[in-house]
Amino acid sequence: MLEAYTLYSGSSGNCILVKSKESAILFDAGKSARAIQTALASVNLDISKINAIFVTHEHGDHTGGLEMISKKHRIPVHITAPSYANYVRAGTFLSQVSVVHDVIYGVNIGDLKIKSFPIPHDAAQNVGYIIEAENGDKMGIATDMGFVTEEIVNNLTGCGTVIVESNHDIKMVRSGPYPAFLKERILSKHGHLSNEECAGLCVHLAKNGTRAITLAHLSRENNTPILAFSTTKDALYKAGLEEVCLRVASPESVVCATLQGE
Ligand SMILES: [Zn+2]
Ligand SMILES: [Zn+2]
Repeated sequence: MLEAYTLYSGSSGNCILVKSKESAILFDAGKSARAIQTALASVNLDISKINAIFVTHEHGDHTGGLEMISKKHRIPVHITAPSYANYVRAGTFLSQVSVVHDVIYGVNIGDLKIKSFPIPHDAAQNVGYIIEAENGDKMGIATDMGFVTEEIVNNLTGCGTVIVESNHDIKMVRSGPYPAFLKERILSKHGHLSNEECAGLCVHLAKNGTRAITLAHLSRENNTPILAFSTTKDALYKAGLEEVCLRVASPESVVCATLQGE
């Protein structure tokens, strides 16, 4: 059985907890060790129980607390080679127990199988993850998506639970306060995923067995939780998929992403 929680989500820091009977792993550590410990405590988990941290990409909102947390608690870090090279270039180092992987890799942590897949984004490399438990429970994580590739769709299809990016409302970006270059970046194929694109992806996934969807990495300036939620909810409703459990991740509080663990 899988349980998943978004501990923090958005440009101010990202961290996701996935746990099973035997194992507990984090995806990204974009907040301080202390903030992550506080969030873990709210789901009754001590940081000493974390078996590994998997990094999606080297951007600060995903790696801000990584050095501290991995060294202090000697937690193995799994990261792709391009992200690692860029991360180290930025002057930070991980615990000696870190593992640098190819872009597409798979590892087992206790009773969990973890597999990566590439996601287009303006990082050295960004990856999503598929996590599978022994009982067949399967979930997917995909954020910081410039656009939805066939590879992303193929990987996420069949996951009972997904955490996917619903970053911005395109109209809000266009009419918002950001400088032109930043608007271009967000809307580009190496930027972030809009609510509309996310809704399309979610309808496809829900048609193929996904039962719990958590919308993540919302922009504070170019989105609102209600707008993100209603865009995907409406699309699911129009497709006759209103029974799907839809939630929105929060920048500063823990949100359960699975049907179990609520
Ligand atoms: Zn990023
Ligand atoms: Zn990010």
